[in-house]
Amino acid sequence: MEKLLEVKDLTKQYALGSLIARILITAVDRISFYMDQAEIFTLAGESGCGKTTTAKIVLGFEEATSGTILHSGKPQTRKEKVWITEGVQAIFQDPFSTFNPLRTVDSYFFETVKNYRLAESKTDAIELIDQKLRSVGLTYGEFAGKYPNEFSGGQLQRISIARALMTNPKLIIADEPVSMVDASLRMAIVNLFKKLRDELGVSVLYITHDLATAYYVSDRIAIMFRGNIVEMGTVEQVLMNPRHPYTRLLRESIPQADPRQTWSDTVTLAELEHDEYLREGCKFAGRCPMVMERCRREVPRDLFVGDVLVKCHLYEGSGETSPS
Ligand code: SF4
Repeated sequence: MEKLLEVKDLTKQYALGSLIARILITAVDRISFYMDQAEIFTLAGESGCGKTTTAKIVLGFEEATSGTILHSGKPQTRKEKVWITEGVQAIFQDPFSTFNPLRTVDSYFFETVKNYRLAESKTDAIELIDQKLRSVGLTYGEFAGKYPNEFSGGQLQRISIARALMTNPKLIIADEPVSMVDASLRMAIVNLFKKLRDELGVSVLYITHDLATAYYVSDRIAIMFRGNIVEMGTVEQVLMNPRHPYTRLLRESIPQADPRQTWSDTVTLAELEHDEYLREGCKFAGRCPMVMERCRREVPRDLFVGDVLVKCHLYEGSGETSPS
């Protein structure tokens, strides 16, 4: 069956430093994944793993260095602004920066109605806007004529989702949509993604550093580390029975007691980021408890253990290089 989204060998390199001392950082390194219709697929990893860069390329905000992206089988051209098409919509981390504080929030909705010719009259437009707001638990009456600062972060993020739904998208790309929302409201927001999947058949590419919400909401998940997908499979396979040493580290780092914390609070490794991106062999070798001599020399292959992708030398011999 045709995939809603296929990403093949996607690579993004950035040149850092001066002309004389220039170094190339491979922020996304030949990653491949697909998404089916009505599926929530998560790219998870700590800050600087390449997940947001991947989302930006899929949306057309940035150009890939190489690789292919197919939307329902159709190749995405290098400069295509996918984010302004009807079929793909984006939701960002900070709902307050999505809306101009000097504009009423409803004006964005009427603008979308006009741009995409979604209604014939103002009455029809209001009816459509109300319908989309109701799908996120709000109503037109609650929001008409109000400015962004009259809403909480959680409400405004729900309004962002309603706005994204105006064009009946097949795919929503949500980049850290709950990281600036009160911990008590996070589950309500991610629950909406499940509802959209189940009731409207919408797929969500969920970009997050928060494994707790990822586990709760995802069908499949890819764990990223320094530009690579190091493990990918169903969320139960990957998070309940993690194989890759990095996934295990993340899994153990999920705080159980305090729901306001996420594992990114406990894994603070920014200073390692640069060195790890430039590391030869396995990029996780510097902090892997299972490291072997060959890990420092050879880049591990993508191996399939059953139908779970694992990028680790430990599985040489037990894994295959293509799904069974
Ligand atoms: Fe650890 Fe080696 Fe596997 Fe990398 S390849 S995760 S260093 S065991």
